[in-house]
Amino acid sequence: MASRVPRGNLLKSLRYFSRPLNSAASSSAFSAPGVPPLNFAEKSETSAVAVADEFQTGSPGVFDVYNTEKLFSSIPTTRLLRASANLHVAAIEPVVDLGMWVMKSKLMETELVKNIVMETIRHTFYEHFCAGEDTAAAGKTILKLREAGLRGMLVYALEYAADNESCDRNLDGFLQTVESTKSLPPSSASFIIVKITAICPMSVLERASDLLRWHHQDPSFELPWKLDSLPIFADNSPMYHTLKKPEPLTPEEERDLQLGYERLLKLCQSCAEANVPLSVDAEHTSVQPIIDYLTYAAAVEYNKNNSPIVYGTIQAYLKDAKDRLLLAANAAEDKGIQMGFKVVRGAYMSSETRIASSLGYESPIHNTIQDTHDCYNDCASFMLENIANGSGALVLASHNVESGRLAAVKAHDLGIGKVNHRLEFAQLYGMSESLSFGLRNAGFQVSKYMPFGPIDMVMPYLLRRAEENRGLLSASSLDRQLMRTELKRRLKAAIVGA
Ligand SMILES: Cc1cc2nc3c(=O)[nH]c(=O)nc-3n(C[C@H](O)[C@H](O)[C@H](O)COP(=O)(O)OP(=O)(O)OC[C@H]3O[C@@H](n4cnc5c(N)ncnc54)[C@H](O)[C@@H]3O)c2cc1C
Repeated sequence: MASRVPRGNLLKSLRYFSRPLNSAASSSAFSAPGVPPLNFAEKSETSAVAVADEFQTGSPGVFDVYNTEKLFSSIPTTRLLRASANLHVAAIEPVVDLGMWVMKSKLMETELVKNIVMETIRHTFYEHFCAGEDTAAAGKTILKLREAGLRGMLVYALEYAADNESCDRNLDGFLQTVESTKSLPPSSASFIIVKITAICPMSVLERASDLLRWHHQDPSFELPWKLDSLPIFADNSPMYHTLKKPEPLTPEEERDLQLGYERLLKLCQSCAEANVPLSVDAEHTSVQPIIDYLTYAAAVEYNKNNSPIVYGTIQAYLKDAKDRLLLAANAAEDKGIQMGFKVVRGAYMSSETRIASSLGYESPIHNTIQDTHDCYNDCASFMLENIANGSGALVLASHNVESGRLAAVKAHDLGIGKVNHRLEFAQLYGMSESLSFGLRNAGFQVSKYMPFGPIDMVMPYLLRRAEENRGLLSASSLDRQLMRTELKRRLKAAIVGA
């Protein structure tokens, strides 16, 4: 019989079904710090609980993250032990703090110390959170994921570029990544991920974003480099990054921007030929306007058919996220374009708040985490309804069990086919295995976001993961708890069976 976590947690999970997707939702008891406790006094809606019961009891559409035997059935015990150990170490704050301190200290200039630290990271965090050093290794990881019923988003882990030379080099890396998907089983690689900050110089992205903001406030302000795109600002979009009229782009800057866009189009063309969609990551608000602008312009070119090639990203932690999503999605529909959106909560919370406050403005991030949860669920709900009506495509990228569960129920209610090329759930590789497997067991398409590349290259990504996983209430706490339960169950089964 399957082991389960205590009944209280199961009851909490049932409550997640009791709210419609677009209503206020409290977070998983296992998710972020500061989340208000669940209110058991609140009444459940009968129909939603019926769906929950149906899901929990093993009928078609089961979505159960607490049946650890079923959840981790595809994971051998040795891998489960390693994963559990890695996540536990990552949750010990003093260990992470010490590791981060060493990484940033002068000690790393000593060859011996550097080698020891890098080898330790390689055999722990790197192997846990990254898919390998190159496309061949990443391909092997995709095959393993496929055996487990999951797909892989290939993330060549390049983040920033300062000049055209490095942008060209980076583009080659992204193109080779697309090429590598041709030797993989069809659709096992679900997406190619790109950061526009890696194929267009940062300084130009900042300048172009300034100009777009100014143009939004004063439409008479001429932009000689305008493209056919979709709306990128809403009425409530903050404009504090651009407080005075910016100078037009110099001819060199204009050329660099054009080259950046051409690189993006080359990548889109290559993805279209390989029949694998391209998802553009979202970054800081300082550069996001031009990232959205170029992404939507590429989508106007490449998303004319039923299966979108280009996906943008909406960060639900931003106060204007939902309004911008509605504007862009509606404009895409008017143009007859199938726009794909990846919806995330957002990864740059502290720097966004710091920059806004240093300029004397309020943070662009929702005032409470509950507002972020509500915004995320509202965006998901809106897009699921669009998909049910045949418009657009959605990647729900989150580790939040409640958001996953609510979206699964909503998709079920709307009759959206589970293996639907317009709906994908996604979690980071090495994180939220329970949610990924729970959604997979419920029959949905689920991907892991898989950064790959040499260890030096993925270090900024690994530091972000270390930050995100530290502390008892971090994103990985549900996984740690469930893995421990499953390991105990296997041990017991081995002893009783022996
Ligand atoms: C497949 C995938 C792709 C991603 N791509 C991107 C990307 O392109 N760009 C990007 O920026 N991020 C990206 N992320 C990271 C993402 O934005 C989140 O940082 C991460 O997934 C944690 O959010 P969660 O939805 O998993 O929710 P949870 O586990 O519930 O975490 C909630 C998070 O919300 C934060 N938060 C938001 N608003 C508030 C608030 N007002 N008060 C307090 N805390 C708040 C908390 O710090 C916490 O980390 C991606 C994540 C995944 C899984």
